[in-house]
This record gives sequence, structure tokens and C-alpha cells, in this order.
Amino acid sequence: MKPSYGLVIHGGAGVITRDKLSPELEVRYRADLGRALEAGHAVLAAGGPALDAVVAAIRVLEDSPLFNAGHGAVLNAEGKCELDSSIMDGRTLGAGAVAGVSRVKNPITLARAVMERSPHVMFAGAGAERFAEQVGGIELVPNEYFQTERRREELRRAQQKEKEQANRRAALGGPAGPLFATIDENDSLDVERKYGTVGCVALDKNGNLAAGTSTGGMTNKKFGRVGDSPIIGAGTYAANATCAVSATGHGEYFIRVGVARDIAAQMEYKGAPLVEAAAATIAKVGSLGGDGGVIAIDRHGNVALPFNTPGMYRGHRLEGRAAEIAIFR
Ligand code: ASP
Repeated sequence: MKPSYGLVIHGGAGVITRDKLSPELEVRYRADLGRALEAGHAVLAAGGPALDAVVAAIRVLEDSPLFNAGHGAVLNAEGKCELDSSIMDGRTLGAGAVAGVSRVKNPITLARAVMERSPHVMFAGAGAERFAEQVGGIELVPNEYFQTERRREELRRAQQKEKEQANRRAALGGPAGPLFATIDENDSLDVERKYGTVGCVALDKNGNLAAGTSTGGMTNKKFGRVGDSPIIGAGTYAANATCAVSATGHGEYFIRVGVARDIAAQMEYKGAPLVEAAAATIAKVGSLGGDGGVIAIDRHGNVALPFNTPGMYRGHRLEGRAAEIAIFR
């Protein structure tokens, strides 16, 4: 029997391998993924809307220091956290997004407020925070709340690598500054290629789909850089007629492929099954040289979790089945 409700979450894709993840840390990752699934599942089992389940699950991951969203988000080149988030309601095609916010404790709640309480879809930077102040009920915190020592160390390593790349380029007679790095030199963005963005897609008992994504972006990103996560159609998409999708990976590639909408479009235009469509889109990202993955669910409760990296923090819980959590391929 097809499940009438369920949810899928991710906590980022990347070079996540057994030798790089200690058993102690793995236990903590699994526990927090389990708590997020539990929070979303409780909403759905009680007959609540998919949108509420998405927000409930993502808030748990934003509050966890382990993932690259909210507390524990990665640092930009200036050593600050700038957060991006988006949400979409598959029932109405309503959508909300925020980019580059630095004081909003749970960016997913602000994305939802943009969708429900403004005539717009996306707010960026200081304006997004002004909206947060005006709309009320959105918790604001100092930027230090998001920053952790582990992320500072990652930034140090990324900047060291960036310096080495720039020196190499200069020695070959090219421009020396970090902004001249090509996309092929992108290693200095996320040295460890562990993305860690969080996302959730859900199907509720009324057959409604929703998707949401929240992130700190990429380590050492430059001023004002925005990735795919807050971009509707790239990092997030939901339409009851097709599917709900949340992405994680190297955002520059995911934007160019229009990943989340590309999966829905294959279902809409050629009737592709969810699993096939999701795999084909991740293959497109891979053929451009990008890495990452997606989670997706359709209105029949089919789920897809393809990724082209060594690992992706992920889990799902469907009606009548036990929760499943996985990290490695
Ligand atoms: N997709 C995110 C970005 O490029 C990063 C991630 O998935 O962790 O901003």
C-alpha cells in the first residue's frame, strides 16, 4: 500500500566517508536527523499540513550545531554567517525565500513569513531583516550565535588553500586575487566538500506537498554570494501535481541546471517517474562538473534521494514504516 503521508530530510551532501566521520560524531548526526524526522512526522501523523512538517523538521536541524544552517552555519570570507532559506507550498505554488540574512535565528520561519505575509517571494540582506522586525514573531540573534569553532577552523583551511591557489595562478602569470578563481578552482570554497545544508520535503494526509531548504551557503563565500538554496526552482520546489524537492551541493551548478524545477518538469512534461527524473537531473549536474544531491517526494509517497557525492546525511519516514537514516553511499 502506498503511504498517505511521509517526509524526507537531508543534512547536506559531500565527501562524507567513514574514515572522516568518527563513530561518536556519527551517533550525534543520526540522533539529530532522527529528532528532525520525529518532529516532522508528529505533525503529519496528527493530520497537520506538509508545510508545518517541513518547518518543524528544518528548525531542529537549524538549531543543531552539526549542520550548515542556523547555529553551526559555515562562515563567509569575512568570518560571518550569512544565511539563505526558502520554502514552497505545493498546494498553492506559494513560495517565500530570504538570502544573506545574518540575524535571523531560524531562517526557514522568515521564508515562510515572506510567503504568507508579504506580496513578494524573496527578500535579501538588510531588507529581509527589516521585514523580520516588522512582521514580528521572528527571533533575532547576534551573528555570534551561529558561529562555532569547528566552522572557524574550516574557514582557516579554506583561506589557506585559496592563498596557495592564487600564488600558483600568479606564478603562471595569471591574476592573483581570490575573486579571479575559476569555478574549476572552487576547492577553496569548501575545502572538504561537505556541504551540510538542510532540507525537508513532505506529503500530508490531504495529498499536499511542501519543500524547504536552509543553509549558511559555502565556506569562504564572497560578499553577497547567494547559492541555490533560496532560489525557487533551483534549491527548492513543490507542486502537488508533480513533486517536492530540496537540494544540497555546489550551488553554482544547481542554479545553472535549475535542479528542483527540472525534476518536476520532467514529470510534468513527459510523465517521468520521480526516481528517474531525480536521477537524470543529478546526472546533468554531474556532467557539468557539479556535485551534490536532492531529496524528493511525490503525491503517491514515492521518494528519491540521489546524490553523486560519497555521502549525504539523509532520512525518511513514511506512514506505517520505521524511520530510515543513512549517511554513506
Ligand atoms: N547548496 C548550498 C549552496 O551552494 C550549499 C550546500 O548544499 O551545503 O549554498
